[in-house]
Formats: sequence, structure tokens, C-alpha cells
Amino acid sequence: MSPVTRVRAREADEICVQATDLARAAAAEMAGQDQVGVHLGTEVDGDRLVTHLFECLQPGYLGWRWAVTVARASRSKLVTVSEVVLLPGPDALLAPEWVPWRDRLLPGDLGVGDLLPARADDERLVPVVASEGSDGLQDWQSGDGVDLAQQPETAQARVLSAIGRDDTAERWYLGDHGPHTPLTRSAPAQCASCGFLVRLAGPLGGVFGVCANAYAPEDGRVVSADHGCGAHSEATGGHGAEPAMPPIIDELGYDLVDQPGVSMAETVFESLDHG
Ligand code: SF4
Repeated sequence: MSPVTRVRAREADEICVQATDLARAAAAEMAGQDQVGVHLGTEVDGDRLVTHLFECLQPGYLGWRWAVTVARASRSKLVTVSEVVLLPGPDALLAPEWVPWRDRLLPGDLGVGDLLPARADDERLVPVVASEGSDGLQDWQSGDGVDLAQQPETAQARVLSAIGRDDTAERWYLGDHGPHTPLTRSAPAQCASCGFLVRLAGPLGGVFGVCANAYAPEDGRVVSADHGCGAHSEATGGHGAEPAMPPIIDELGYDLVDQPGVSMAETVFESLDHG
């Protein structure tokens, strides 16, 4: 026969429930006499284990309650305090739910010197092998498949001349999207190795591509292969938090503090007199 588990409804222990004064005194000791309001009720936590709830009168804690848990041993009438904590009630004023920084980040937040490593499971990136042949756009991005130079000639009547190409290359390269920018100088790596770079086809494709990272300042813009920024797909977050500085103990200087009955000015003049 399988064992039977009996679930017994918890009943409030009358002696613990009556220990309101003891619970209030414990809350007042923790919070201060004037910070504990009316008794809001009790909650049964277990056998001979009851929590008394008191209104919290601290202005910054609207709807919070002092929760004082009291208990007694079996066959004993002595009630003792187990713990006193401040807990939010159903209508408590609470801080907004915490949102991880990665979800708070918006395009345009990244500045010079900032690092924004892409997660290993970032759905915007796939290994190069996986992208080959999966669809037209990714083929083109990875350098395989579609060759714009071989598209039907109905799209363009004319194309860039060598002069037009060189002018454009110089303008783009020497502008804000080339290698000579503060953003690039503080970048962990160049766009050439970044998964967010969509390479251009045609004569400018050897040097330029388009940044496709929503968090990068250059998103949607032409960048040179030797440009870069902190949102590079392979950026790493460094080696964790900076180590804490050892404490500096100043054994020569001193601080001036107010003493009861002695003004700060008197202290200063006295120290000068004896200096
Ligand atoms: S600008 Fe930054 S995110 Fe964009 S392609 Fe270059 S390194 Fe990658």
C-alpha cells in the first residue's frame, strides 16, 4: 500500500496571534516608535508560526508593511520573535521592474570608446558557412551568388566612370566613415572583420560596405573596411569588472569635524595658533 500524505489546513496558533504587543514592540525597535502604524492582521506561516503585519508610516514606503514573525515551541506558552522585515503590500509603491541594460539600449546610444559586444546567440548574426546559399541577400552579403554587375542592363543606362569612382572613394574614405575618426581609433577591430558589414558589389566593394548594426552610429551608412566601432560583432566585454583600487590611508592629513559646543571656526583658529 502506498503511503498516504495527509495535508492538514494550517490553523492560527491563538497564543501567537495574541502576541500583538510583542510584535509591535519588535517592529518599533527596528523602525522607531513613530514609524509603526495600525495592526493590519496576521498570516499563518506554519504550526505555531504567525506573522503580524503593521502599517509602515515612513513617507517613502507607501503601502509597505512591517512583518513581524513570532513563534513558540510545542507545549510552551513563551512566544519569541523570529524576524522583523519590511515587505511590500498589495498596493505598495514599488520601483519599476528592472530592465537589463541590453534591452534598454537604443540605437544612437553607443559613443566613442564604448564597447557593445554581440551575444553569442545574437539572432542578427550567423556563421558565414550557414549563410551560404540560404537566400539571395545573404549570398550577396557573403560574396557568393548574386553579382550586380551581371544583372539585366535595364536597371542602369550608365554606371560610374573611373573619375566618378575615385571621387566617391576619396570622399567616403576621408569623411566620417573612414579610418580617421575617434570612433575608429577606440574600436576593438575594423569593419572588415565585422559580421554587420554588408559588402558593396561593384568597383567600390573592395573597400566599402554598409553597416547593418542598429546600435552602431553608422547604421545604414557606407563605411570603409578599415573603419570600426565598439559595436563590432566580435567585440568582447573585456575581462570583467575593473579590480577595486586598494584603499589609500592618509596618515598625514586630517579632517575638521564639529564638536558639541565648539564651532568649526574656533577649531581652525586653534589649530593655526598651535601650528
Ligand atoms: S561600424 Fe561598427 S558595427 Fe558597423 S560594420 Fe563597422 S565595426 Fe561593425
